[in-house]
Parts: sequence; structure tokens; C-alpha cells
Amino acid sequence: MTQKIEKIVVATHNKGKLKEISALLLPFDVIAISAGEMGVDEPEETEATFIGNALLKARHSAKATNLPALADDSGLEVLGLNGAPGIYSARWAGENKDFNVAMARVEKELKEKNTQDYGARFVCALALVWPDGTQKAFEGYVEGHLEFPARGENGFGYDPIFVPNGFDITFGEMDADKKHAMSHRANAFKQLIAEVFEK
Ligand code: IMP
Repeated sequence: MTQKIEKIVVATHNKGKLKEISALLLPFDVIAISAGEMGVDEPEETEATFIGNALLKARHSAKATNLPALADDSGLEVLGLNGAPGIYSARWAGENKDFNVAMARVEKELKEKNTQDYGARFVCALALVWPDGTQKAFEGYVEGHLEFPARGENGFGYDPIFVPNGFDITFGEMDADKKHAMSHRANAFKQLIAEVFEK
């Protein structure tokens, strides 16, 4: 049986992520505070997997605040690029966080590889760590393929080149509510809620 959580620190300095996570936790009477608000710094993401990096961030915040801590790590895996950019998804956008640069790099590398395999998936790892060291981690996915040139103004990151299975529009062209309902993040959250908050 999992310990009941009343207050949780969300290991992010991103206000958008805090808002999205607070909304998801609303039905469970959990107060969510961000690591940024509590003055906790962001550790360097040195692990080789999404789950490794999510656990590293959650452990860091749990230790610093003595509260249960929730962290996520996400990215795009392209089959024809052997899973790249993967955990380097944010870094491919460079210092200016320009995702046109990142999407152009994906297209260039696929062309250079001369591959027809444009299959791709978004991955989201969620980690929850208690101050006593207990930890739980979940991974959610949304599968699809890439199309170029990029289409659509919605969403962020690699959304304009990602077409989810069963659709012929990109995440960049999809309504936010529809994307959020089927996203890798939603999928990981469903697992977390079923395992930790509904038990
Ligand atoms: P994180 O904040 O370290 O998890 O960075 C994840 C990176 O993966 C983001 O900067 C985006 O480039 C990419 N990414 C993750 N989720 C999505 C998504 O839903 N749409 C588009 N790009 C995403």
C-alpha cells in the first residue's frame, strides 16, 4: 500500500509543466509546489535513459525538500535514427531552443541514412520518489511517424513533424485537448494515478 500523499514537489522550473501536473492531481486533494518555488536547483541530467533522468530529478528534489517529489523526462525517438534524438531531444534544439533547427537535423539525418523508416514515438517517463527513498517510475508512449515539411502551429517541440497512428494530421495541427488526451504524458500519468493515487 502506497503512503497517502498530501503535498508533493514537482521537480521542474517550468510553470507550464507545474500547471498541467497540478490539474491532473486536482481530483486527489494533493497540493503541488514546484522545485523552483522551493528554491531547489535543477541537477544535470547525466543518466542514459528517460527513467534514469526522471528518477535523478525526483531524488534530488525529495532530498532537498523532505517531501515526495515527482519528475518527468520526455523526448522523441525516431526508429530510422536508432532512437535518436531520445534523451537529447531538448539539446538538439541548441542554446536558442530553436526546434526548427532540431526538426531540420532529424530530416537531414534521415536523408543521410537513406532510410524509409520514418516511424517514431514520443516517450514520457514519470518518477515519484519519497524522502525515505521509496521510488516508483512509469513510462508512457504515443506511436506514429514523421512527415516533412513541418505542419501546424499548435503544441511545441517536435509536434509539427509527428503524425500519431490513426491520424493524418500532425500534433502541430491537432487541438491541444485532443493531443493532451492521447499523449505520452497522459499515458504515463494514467499509470501513475492508477498505481499511486487511486489505491
Ligand atoms: P524535457 O523537458 O527534458 O523532458 O525535454 C523534452 C524535450 O522533448 C522537449 O524539449 C521537446 O523537444 C521534446 N518533447 C517532449 N514532449 C513533447 C511533445 O509532446 N511534443 C513535442 N516535443 C516534445
